[in-house]
Amino acid sequence: MSILITGGAGYIGSHTCVELIEAGKDIVVIDNYSNSCSESLERVKKITGKDFRYYECDIRDREGLEKVFAENEIEAVIHFAGLKAVGESCQKPWEYYDNNIAGTLVLVDVMRKNGCKKMVFSSSATVYGEENQVPFVETMKTGTTTNPYGTTKLYIENILKDIYNADNEWSIVLLRYFNPVGAHESGLIGEAPSFPNNLMPYVSQVAVGKREFLSIFGDCYNTPDGTGVRDYIHVVDLALGHVKAIDFALPRTGVEIFNLGTGNGVSVIGLVKAFEEANNVSVPYKIVEPRAGDVAYSYANAQKALEILGWKAERDVKKMCEDTWRWQKNNPNGYAN
Ligand code: NAD
Ligand code: UDP
Repeated sequence: MSILITGGAGYIGSHTCVELIEAGKDIVVIDNYSNSCSESLERVKKITGKDFRYYECDIRDREGLEKVFAENEIEAVIHFAGLKAVGESCQKPWEYYDNNIAGTLVLVDVMRKNGCKKMVFSSSATVYGEENQVPFVETMKTGTTTNPYGTTKLYIENILKDIYNADNEWSIVLLRYFNPVGAHESGLIGEAPSFPNNLMPYVSQVAVGKREFLSIFGDCYNTPDGTGVRDYIHVVDLALGHVKAIDFALPRTGVEIFNLGTGNGVSVIGLVKAFEEANNVSVPYKIVEPRAGDVAYSYANAQKALEILGWKAERDVKKMCEDTWRWQKNNPNGYAN
């Protein structure tokens, strides 16, 4: 029996493939490579020394998915596939709703028809919206999302809950990620955005000399140094959270939500300083206008994942910065080398 990983060639997916294989699981991957390439999967094979099947397949392609289910015994799905650029989602909302929501509906339908009713879904802390106060707890009411990307995450959470309500044979785990950063210790896989969206890829591109300076989006938030505070989590810790989540989902039915974060908040300037110190590099920055839709604080209450999954983030900010830098230095053009 195998676990199907959608979007497995991507940043979090590729790291999760490594940890699943190292935990002894059989995996099958699908990806349409809209934001990745198969080289990341070849590197997963190199790191683990294990072979596995992967398919170029879009989650909206019903026939393609049917073929994957026909050729493999899939017992559960970890569903990463999706578009994730907040800014782009405001410009092309239809693409985000089609790819993320319509894609998930096709996937769930093919799963159902093949008797596979176990899913771990990549949600986001963004569903807490602007109304809730940190630390965010899973029992809070979800908030108002500030962009179409966030709305797709909120809608998919609600769709998956409805699917369970209609058919109690489903087992669904909604993982709300905080801010994934870092890379595998080998320096072989990491985040390779064609155009960065998040803070850490910008920091490392400035450090490596690809960009002149970092633009910090506002220093007048009500935080200790005025810059936004986030809960950065090492991608390997996040990947290990998926191993725990799939083991939790397999023998059960129901819907369960877990925050995957460290519970610690770090400011933008705090992260820049940590990166400079950890790697002995300089990251010049300029303060610019705040970015629309940003909140001052976002960090998790990470207690539920500890109590129920027995999972806790172990890697500190220094390690996040060191591993990001190793990946960036070894692969200045991502997988293009
Ligand atoms: P990523 O872009 O690196 O990975 C997503 C993968 O999905 C890519 O390989 C892409 O090619 C693939 N994909 C996209 N649409 C597809 C489709 N229709 N069919 C098949 N494959 C498709 O992103 P990531 O950072 O690894 O994120 C993984 C998941 O986690 C996404 O759903 C994302 O929204 C969610 N998430 C990410 C973050 C973050 O900061 N990175 C935070 C919260 C949630
Ligand atoms: N940020 C920044 N400059 C950048 C990118 C991000 O100052 O080039 C800030 C952003 O305003 C936020 C924090 O860094 O306070 C994390 O942003 P990111 O986009 O990585 O994650 P998110 O906002 O989704 O939590």
